[in-house]
Amino acid sequence: MSAALLAKLTAKGLIIDGSPMGGGIVEISAADVAASLAFGNLELWAYKYSLGKWCADAEYIKESQGEVEHLTWAHYQPKVKRVEARSISVVAMFQAVGGYLCPHCDGSKVVRIATGLVACKACRESGRGPLRLSTKADLMGMSRQGYTKTWDERVKWAESVISGWEQAGLTHMYRQFSQEEMAG
Ligand SMILES: [Zn+2]
Repeated sequence: MSAALLAKLTAKGLIIDGSPMGGGIVEISAADVAASLAFGNLELWAYKYSLGKWCADAEYIKESQGEVEHLTWAHYQPKVKRVEARSISVVAMFQAVGGYLCPHCDGSKVVRIATGLVACKACRESGRGPLRLSTKADLMGMSRQGYTKTWDERVKWAESVISGWEQAGLTHMYRQFSQEEMAG
């Protein structure tokens, strides 16, 4: 089953829209996010990363980034050096935890049209968007020319590892809370 869950962090907690899975929207309070991640048997790195991302725990983000570095280095042996794997993991983690702005609304979550301001659809009002190639190159400590397709593919591989953790964490929470709502 596809786990194309969309999630949005709000002041009150987390909203997960699971509609691609045939469900609806569930709202989880900030405290319940941490409790729900700890409950059950979520895979270790999906757990650590999710806690880092949704509960803003910097230590878990750093630890997860270290794991991405290790996995990337091992995956691309012997083409990628350890220090390069580290740069790749930094870019991928930066992208994943949302330290970047939506290019359509510059992070403001609203865009200006003739009649006024409307919610930014490009980022689903998250204020976040994909990193530009030039930003990725900067983060890698490379020139725009040096950041070739090969490097971009490696960064994308690392991003896919993280998005796997993210989907696993969201699916885990979604299942628990949608079941609770059905039961209640
Ligand atoms: Zn936007």
